[in-house]
Amino acid sequence: MSGVSRRRLLGTGALTAAATAAATAVNASSASASPASATAAAPPGGAAASADVVVVGAGLSGLCAARDLVAAGRSVIVLEARERPGGRVYGMPLGDGTTSEGGAEFIGPTQDRIAALAADLGVGTFATYNTGKNVYYRNGKRSLYATDGLLGAVPPDWGVFDLQLALLSLGNMAKSVPVGEPWKAPKAEEWDSQTFYTWSRSNSFSNGARFLMDAFVSSTLSVRSRDVSLLYVLNYIASAGNESSPGKVDRLINTRDGAQELRFVGGSQEIPVRLAAKLGDRVRYNAPVRSVGVRDGAGAG
Ligand SMILES: Cc1cc2nc3c(=O)[nH]c(=O)nc-3n(C[C@H](O)[C@H](O)[C@H](O)COP(=O)(O)OP(=O)(O)OC[C@H]3O[C@@H](n4cnc5c(N)ncnc54)[C@H](O)[C@@H]3O)c2cc1C
Repeated sequence: MSGVSRRRLLGTGALTAAATAAATAVNASSASASPASATAAAPPGGAAASADVVVVGAGLSGLCAARDLVAAGRSVIVLEARERPGGRVYGMPLGDGTTSEGGAEFIGPTQDRIAALAADLGVGTFATYNTGKNVYYRNGKRSLYATDGLLGAVPPDWGVFDLQLALLSLGNMAKSVPVGEPWKAPKAEEWDSQTFYTWSRSNSFSNGARFLMDAFVSSTLSVRSRDVSLLYVLNYIASAGNESSPGKVDRLINTRDGAQELRFVGGSQEIPVRLAAKLGDRVRYNAPVRSVGVRDGAGAG
């Protein structure tokens, strides 16, 4: 695929990169569309097909990569294991003709690429429901708090002062983490050698701050703080920024001015559905890729 390097290709994805096999033979079980121009994807019992690039997966990354390759004049086949596009972007039917998100749902400030993609596809946004007070539940006690104060979504636990210092440190450390290449951070090895739990215990003294830091990790990453490295969390914080605004924890957890600020009209799945529609029969469903081989000379085999 001259002129389009793999690195460039992966960089074009809106979010994390899909595995992409360029001019590489791909064994898909039952690709359900007509073959493309030459020889590559070969479902058992079906006709082989080929393209300049075979993209594995019709999630946002794979679809964006395919879109950019088509725009660059390349032939593309997208092999998707499921019967639908979108991957972790999934509209769950509610039974009345409407859907609600079963995966990615929100968009907020600094998420410029997905905003541009949605605008390009004609998918609008609306404000997330954010009326009334939040509920804070800790040690068997339930309390209500407003989120329009200085602390935003952070609950008024007395540990917040301790917490704010820790969050400040995290924000400063995250500034030295290159988004998508966290291993290039000057202290990558040191930060990747400890869990977030270890760091949070060494850098806070109150149970309230520790509880809230654990809640931050479990609610955003769906793991416990002892199961994820400090570097991973810093990369995640860094990724909540853009060229002009560094990432920070507040932006990740807030609705107002944060990552939960907006939703997509018609549901987030409108984005992959419309992207896939533009790619037409280049996208093949029910086509799980079982193996990827390399062929002498042609690069595929
Ligand atoms: C519950 C939840 C909530 C989220 N909320 C948000 C949010 O509010 N905002 C936000 O920005 N992000 C959110 N995300 C993250 C977002 O959904 C993902 O970052 C994004 O969808 C990832 O896209 P992707 O294309 O990289 O991967 P995926 O969506 O995982 O796509 C990968 C695709 O590859 C296919 N595939 C995998 N292996 C094979 C194979 N061998 N052969 C063929 N096909 C294969 C899969 O079926 C899938 O369709 C959320 C995720 C979850 C799970």
